[in-house]
Parts: sequence; C-alpha cells; structure tokens
Amino acid sequence: MFDINMRLTSMLGLLTIIIIFALVLDYLRVLRRPVRLGLYIAIIGIVCGVGLTLSAVLPENHFFGRVFSQIDTTQKVVAITFDDGPYPPYTDQILDVLKENNVRATFFVVGKNVDRHPELMKRIHDEGHQIGNHTYNHIDLLKADRDMVISEIVKTNKAISSVTGIKPHIVRPPHGFRDPVVLEVMAEQGLKVVEWSVMSRDWTNPGVEVIANRVISKAQNGSVILLHDGDGIANQASRAQTVEATRLIIKQLLAEGYTFVTVDEILAKAEEKNK
Ligand SMILES: [Zn+2]
Repeated sequence: MFDINMRLTSMLGLLTIIIIFALVLDYLRVLRRPVRLGLYIAIIGIVCGVGLTLSAVLPENHFFGRVFSQIDTTQKVVAITFDDGPYPPYTDQILDVLKENNVRATFFVVGKNVDRHPELMKRIHDEGHQIGNHTYNHIDLLKADRDMVISEIVKTNKAISSVTGIKPHIVRPPHGFRDPVVLEVMAEQGLKVVEWSVMSRDWTNPGVEVIANRVISKAQNGSVILLHDGDGIANQASRAQTVEATRLIIKQLLAEGYTFVTVDEILAKAEEKNK
C-alpha cells in the first residue's frame, strides 16, 4: 500500500521540519489570511506523524505493507505462538505442556538464544513445532539501518538451520515494529511477517489467571496468540507464569472446541477461504 522506500525515522524527521517551519510562519504572522495556513499545516503534520507511528507499531495495521495478525476463517482454529526463546528452563516446560496436550505451536526464536541453547532449539523442531525468525539480538528494527536488518535476519536463519536443517519462512519483528524498509528486507529474504491478534502482556508477569483470562476472553476463530517463553537477549525474567497460563489456555480453548494449529496451517485456512 505504501511503496515509498523510506524509514519511519526519516518520515518523522521530515514531518518535524515541516511542522517547525509552519509554526514559525504562523508565529511571524505569515500565511495567516484568509486562514492560519501555517497552524493548519502544523496540525496536519502532527496527525500524520501519529498515524505513521501507529502504522509501524500496531500489529493489525497494513499501511506499510501486508502483515498477518487475525486470520479470516470460519473454522475453530487458533495458532499459539511463543517469542524470544529458547530460554531454559521455561522453553522445556512449555514444550512439556504442549506435548501432554498434543498441541503444536510456533516459536519465534532469537538467534543469539539459539546459539546459546542449541539443544532446546533441536527439541522444539524434533517435537513438530514451527519455527520463525525473531532477529538475532532482539533489536528495534526501526532504529537499525538496512544492512543491520539484513544481518539480524540472516544470522538467525543460519543459527536455526545449523541446528535443525530448516530455513524459516516466517518472521516476527521484535515488538512487531516495522516500516517500509523492514518489510522490503523481509520480502527479499522470503519471509512472511506474522504479528498477532491476541496479546496478554505476559512479559509483565501480571499473574497466571490474568494472562490466561486475557487470552481466553479474546480468542476467536483465526486468532494468533502471542506469549513469551523467553526474555529478549537479557534472559533474566521468569516465565513461570506463562508456563502455567499456557496450561490453562490450552485446557479451556480445547474444551471450547478449538483446534491449535501452527502459523503455516492457520495461514493456509485463510488462503482456502479466499479461493
Ligand atoms: Zn520479542
């Protein structure tokens, strides 16, 4: 939709200059008649800046290009996804919960954590879960230059394939942040950008019940659920609440008749419907 190849930071920089210039003109009482044109330009500039920023951070926004969040399907399917791992002991514990319930999930892994814990990466793959790229250092890609974005993606793909032999074809940018250049690099690397439609803010550790209830109350056909088995590259926070919440979420959604599928499988449902 938006094909000017520009960084969000450049767009905001340009808008800031326009806004300042317009306000100075207004202050100097230039362009004030018949309307206060300078002031109006400044207001429009601020609104555009807010709109562009929201387009970069809201998971369901398509202004800068296509991303996947909520899938349009009439089938009772949801995809449960885990970000930031592998991270012991929590990734192992989540894998145990998934195994007990015969559920397959999708893990968006951080390359640096894959290199730290290859045995956990191998277990994720061996147990049939899908793997996605979540960059190497979990950096904000809006602040990285093009070469850095490429290197974050390529290094992570290498780390994943050296352990599992597979090359991911899905990516989730850290925090979901993207702009036209980030999306262009992902497309060049053959990666579909997957965001989410159900978020529990589990990384703030608000309590097991709170995490589970937030997910269960928002889940619907075609939801992509975001949870965290890891903690960026810091690997300091506990994910014990997420482990227990995962158990409750799976139990309740299975009881409600939902089937858990991988991201690839839920994307295929959307394609079936569009045929
Ligand atoms: Zn993350």
